[in-house]
Amino acid sequence: MRGQQIGGGTVALFAGPCSVEGREMMLGIGEKVASFGASFLRGGAFKPRTSPYAFQGLGEEGLRCLAEAREATGLPVATELMDPRDIDLVGRYADVIQIGARNMQNFRLLTEVGRLDKPVILKRGMSATIVEWLMSAEYIASEGNRQIILCERGVRTFETATRNTFDVSAIPVLKSLSHLPVIADPSHATGKMSLVEPLAAAAIAAGADGVMVEVHHDPETALSDGPQSLRPEAFREMVGRLKGIAVAMGKKLGNA
Ligand code: PEP
Ligand code: MN
Repeated sequence: MRGQQIGGGTVALFAGPCSVEGREMMLGIGEKVASFGASFLRGGAFKPRTSPYAFQGLGEEGLRCLAEAREATGLPVATELMDPRDIDLVGRYADVIQIGARNMQNFRLLTEVGRLDKPVILKRGMSATIVEWLMSAEYIASEGNRQIILCERGVRTFETATRNTFDVSAIPVLKSLSHLPVIADPSHATGKMSLVEPLAAAAIAAGADGVMVEVHHDPETALSDGPQSLRPEAFREMVGRLKGIAVAMGKKLGNA
């Protein structure tokens, strides 16, 4: 969409903040990641937070910031839809709709996005098996929308050293079971900025069709997921190194 490809010979590169925090912020990060090779912008306007007292996202104002960043960069934007009641609103602004891990089995929501003519990123539920995940994709496909992108974002295990446990094997397993493109989110999979690059590298080497990375200009003050967010400069350096891995896989990395 908008000239950007998912699947085929490209490793799509989704980058941007966890939450859209404002216009200047979204434009600033958007311009930076675009110039460093991102092929899609990400940013949450509706945030699924564990605590109801945590920042819940800017809602429509956040969507407007994303739209402005799209105009400024020319890149398509991906953002999360949490509630079927917001589908028209989010659909007006988003090029790609994200269904978050917590909603992977919100079947009503899946049915609704299945009626859209818009790509959907379906994140893996935090304790979902691969078959359950693929059945959720069926809920979307069976309504007519075949533009589905699966996103491995780590699953819950006994391990506490990382936020989640990244299931790299899910990538080749999905490739053997399905024709759908598979991307990986090493930010949510690890919860730690220092671990984002190694897992992004592993995902590309395992055959991922894309990676999604959280980037923030000042992770210490981020309103959500600061500890796992890369500074724009770190993102630039990572892209430089990941490029070689994409090339080894016979692919190009985003617009890098
Ligand atoms: C996100 O992408 O910001 C997010 C909330 O991800 P997940 O649904 O994978 O936790
Ligand atoms: Mn996040």
